[in-house]
Amino acid sequence: QAKKHGHDFISYYNKALDEERKKVFNLQHELISALHDNALELYYQPIVKIKDDSLHAAEALIRWEHPVQGLVMPEDFIPVAIESGIIVEVGWWVLETVCRQIKEWKEVGRWKVNYISININAKQLLKNNFAQTFLDKLTEYGVNSSDIKIEITETSLIDNFEMTQDVIVELQQSGIRCVIDDFGTGYSSLSYLKKLSFSVLKIDREFMSGLVDDEESIALMRTMISIGKQLHYNVIIEGIENATQRDILREIDNTLSYQGYVISPPLPEEEFTEKFLV
Ligand code: C2E
Ligand code: MG
Ligand code: MG
Ligand code: MG
Repeated sequence: QAKKHGHDFISYYNKALDEERKKVFNLQHELISALHDNALELYYQPIVKIKDDSLHAAEALIRWEHPVQGLVMPEDFIPVAIESGIIVEVGWWVLETVCRQIKEWKEVGRWKVNYISININAKQLLKNNFAQTFLDKLTEYGVNSSDIKIEITETSLIDNFEMTQDVIVELQQSGIRCVIDDFGTGYSSLSYLKKLSFSVLKIDREFMSGLVDDEESIALMRTMISIGKQLHYNVIIEGIENATQRDILREIDNTLSYQGYVISPPLPEEEFTEKFLV
């Protein structure tokens, strides 16, 4: 009897595993098609100065216009793209799309931001000649190295710290600045903050929750901002959703920049251009 149950369990388990594998496999293939069928799209979210909410920069965020599922969010396909390595091709697509966009904004007199941030997975940085290939793309589109910043999540940095650092230094020497994304959520030690050659520190939106009415959350936020600034980073706060949170941050430090729903969610290119690049 026990044997029979055991067997049932295993075949059930295998079936579930097969289903899961099939799903991932399909997703990978669909994603590769999407790359070639123009089904991926970049949305743009403004980054503003907290002092007066004036436009500072914008972050490009990927979306997938799926023929059946509609708009698919990055959390539903970026992990699979990273796992399978497709993220490298996605990353180059993002860079090219942003370069083309910047070129167009410049041509029509709508280039009103200091830079566009793009998200690059640390895996891609370790591919052959990342920095040179990146620079070649900028040259091809006539985009300046100060027009684009590269966001890399704290979590994805940890695996190959030394090698990643070398690439970041190489980029920095060519005038490309990097952003530590989702700061405070990885399990890395603070000591690496003084070793890495990043320019901007983006504090994860997790630290925004509780900011209203919780002394300890405010103390934590104040401390993180202070660490970032004393180590000469520009600090950006992610995920400000309401005016109360913004008021608290303004009081902590009015030289910060931030992004969040209180100003705008990420928008399709046309809408972003109409609303913010005026
Ligand atoms: P991220 O780079 O930290 O991007 C910020 C995320 O926070 C975006 O989610 C944005 O829509 C969201 N957000 C901004 N303001 C608020 C707010 O006030 N409240 C809340 N609740 N959320 C806010 P999104 O666009 O869904 O992207 C999720 C993540 O997917 C990104 O986090 C990034 O890690 C990844 N991702 C997005 N685009 C790309 C890409 O082109 N390449 C790579 N490698 N990863 C990407
Ligand atoms: Mg980001
Ligand atoms: Mg982030
Ligand atoms: Mg995040």
